[in-house]
Amino acid sequence: MGIHHAFDTKLVHRSGYIDGVTGAVNPPIHYSSTFHQSSFNQIGEFDYSRSGNPTRKILEETIADLEGGTAGFAFSSGMAAISSAFMLLSAGDHVLISQDVYGGTYRIVTEVLTRFQIEHTFVDMTDLDQVAQGIRPNTKVLYVETPSNPLLHITDLKGVIKIAKANGCLVFVDNTFMTPFLQRPLDLGADIVLHSATKFLSGHSDVVAGLAVVKNDDLAKKVGFIQNAFGSVLGVQDCWLLLRGMKTLSVRLQQSSKTAEQIATFLVKHPLIEEVFYPGLTSHPGYAIHHSQAKGAGAVLSFRLPDRECTKAFVENVRIPVFAVSLGAVESILSYPATMSHAAMPKEERERRGITDGVLRLSVGLEHVDDLLEDFEQSLQKAIRFAATIK
Ligand SMILES: *Cc1c(COP(=O)(O)O)cnc(C)c1O
Repeated sequence: MGIHHAFDTKLVHRSGYIDGVTGAVNPPIHYSSTFHQSSFNQIGEFDYSRSGNPTRKILEETIADLEGGTAGFAFSSGMAAISSAFMLLSAGDHVLISQDVYGGTYRIVTEVLTRFQIEHTFVDMTDLDQVAQGIRPNTKVLYVETPSNPLLHITDLKGVIKIAKANGCLVFVDNTFMTPFLQRPLDLGADIVLHSATKFLSGHSDVVAGLAVVKNDDLAKKVGFIQNAFGSVLGVQDCWLLLRGMKTLSVRLQQSSKTAEQIATFLVKHPLIEEVFYPGLTSHPGYAIHHSQAKGAGAVLSFRLPDRECTKAFVENVRIPVFAVSLGAVESILSYPATMSHAAMPKEERERRGITDGVLRLSVGLEHVDDLLEDFEQSLQKAIRFAATIK
């Protein structure tokens, strides 16, 4: 497909696939671990599916194109992609990382990388002074999530990238919440974009997958080497499901974002809600920065209820969203960070970061907005009545 095509067109046609033999409009799933070599002297493009597989290749080229990078890599999960990117580091290196990073990323940085003498410092990335002050002589990577999980803090990507470049550091951006439809960090100068493709990219809660996209050939060689050496590649059936899910990414995300904005506006006005975290609200402290680097606010928001009891009453009465971990699907997903995504974080750490026992995260799906609003209203009413009885 031409590089000039709009994002939506690329989503549907990027794989450009029409089977040369049958005319099939979708690629075959190449269930083959090994490939016959027709020449004694020369190995063909594919030899063994850990190193490369034709179905996976279509997915990897597609995500590279969508993110505007030189190469893409598919992994068996978002954490496999993130962990593999960290394997570019060596003992003695230091990582500067967003303090409200995804719980699994917190776990690998604090409990695994430390065993390999890779150090880290958590900083509030919304504050560029803290970022600049956190840099050490051995800092190699600045690791950013924006909007962050679960409080949707916004990091100024250009600001962080500028500091990183001035200090010879790489910038890794976890772009799971935005996807390349809304935000393209490589265009702003980031070096590696990471995804839990389990979320919006696949979109149907049916695949666990990770993707990495790099901005130049040098990083492509290094990440490709690690992908093959460490071997946490994505299986071919999941590559195919992910390719299928991605075709509808833009329509899903546009619709869900619109509904998310309506729900955020509703929650802001609700007496029981103490705080709403959504970068689509003009009251969000990161509103201007977010909209200067992304095309929309996305479909994830969080909100704070007074305490654990109210939260429990709300969750037990809400009917439409599933109460589960994960996000970015056709069905709305309500999560409780304290015991779900951030269970790996000690309570004091969690509360210090503002993730109190009253915080819920909502990933908005494709249900009708009126149904969701009505459902939230009725369950909040029950939570209010419950709150009154315990006071
Ligand atoms: C889910 C998630 C991950 C981890 O991805 P998995 O596919 O679950 O391994 C990483 N970062 C963010 C922001 C996520 O939401």
